[in-house]
Amino acid sequence: MPDPEFLLLGEPLWLEFVNTAHQPPTGGEALPDPAAYLRWTKAVQLLSPGDAEAYRAALALRERLAAIADALADGRAAAPSAIEAVNRRLGLLEGREQLVRIGGRWRLRFHPERPPADLEAIALSAAQALANPLATVRRCPGPECGLFFLDETDNQSRRICSRTRCGQQRGRVERRRANRTPVVTDE
Ligand SMILES: [Zn+2]
Repeated sequence: MPDPEFLLLGEPLWLEFVNTAHQPPTGGEALPDPAAYLRWTKAVQLLSPGDAEAYRAALALRERLAAIADALADGRAAAPSAIEAVNRRLGLLEGREQLVRIGGRWRLRFHPERPPADLEAIALSAAQALANPLATVRRCPGPECGLFFLDETDNQSRRICSRTRCGQQRGRVERRRANRTPVVTDE
């Protein structure tokens, strides 16, 4: 369901968070102040104290996560320092590992003992994606887009953030191309 203030794609939490840094089409910051961050955490159903300190910590983690998403989308390894930032957040979680069946496969899933705080939940989401060999981080090539998304399709075939956002634009380009070609021949 589209959120009136924030662009949410239904992607894993950490990529939704990274995407707030450059919102298409202008590339603007979606979280310019602590109040905006607090509204975003509510929109994605996270718990945050919503103060200036929480905001600063959130932006610092977002920068690390953006570096990870960038590296993975370009086929590079994520920097150890960025992974360390994720691990530091994970270290604050208490809970247990459980086997869960997802998409016909067994996955190991962490079940926290208390509802994770905002940045713990975001870090957990990043860790799950990084540890999943069947998921690939991609950057949408749509015009003025560049949003990150996680390709979890069986044949790794997803190429755009969403059909409604960038699929139509791509369709238009293809239709223009199709209209250009056949004019000369059939007379
Ligand atoms: Zn897109």
